[in-house]
Amino acid sequence: MAEYDPGNIFARIVRAEVPSERVYEDEEFIAFKDIAPKAPVHILVIPRRQQRTGPAALVDGDADWMGRMVLVATQIAREQGLSERGYRLVMNSGPDAHQEVQHLHLHILGGTSLDSMA
Ligand code: AMP
Repeated sequence: MAEYDPGNIFARIVRAEVPSERVYEDEEFIAFKDIAPKAPVHILVIPRRQQRTGPAALVDGDADWMGRMVLVATQIAREQGLSERGYRLVMNSGPDAHQEVQHLHLHILGGTSLDSMA
């Protein structure tokens, strides 16, 4: 697995070197609109400090902040009005999943009836 590259686009968004349309931020996480949305609501939640390339790079000690990141995503989904109709949380890992950015991120997709995945 490749090393984490601090020059990746999401690390640059965290450092505000690259603009993003932020919808949420706290001490640990930021969330911003996806630049090429795949649904009417398409938001990415990322950790500010944890240098993980993606889900496959997670270790046991990551359980707490990962749990908090999922809770942040559900809060954002609620704020975006997605709770009643529902939404999808997605994390891509590696080439078969078409992971493009090597900084762990959680997609929030909603605002329409999404394609069935099964
Ligand atoms: P993934 O395929 O899971 O790695 O998803 C990466 C996502 O990041 C894609 O949906 C891209 O559209 C999105 N993306 C890439 N660059 C930017 C950017 N500068 N601002 C917002 N979203 C971006």
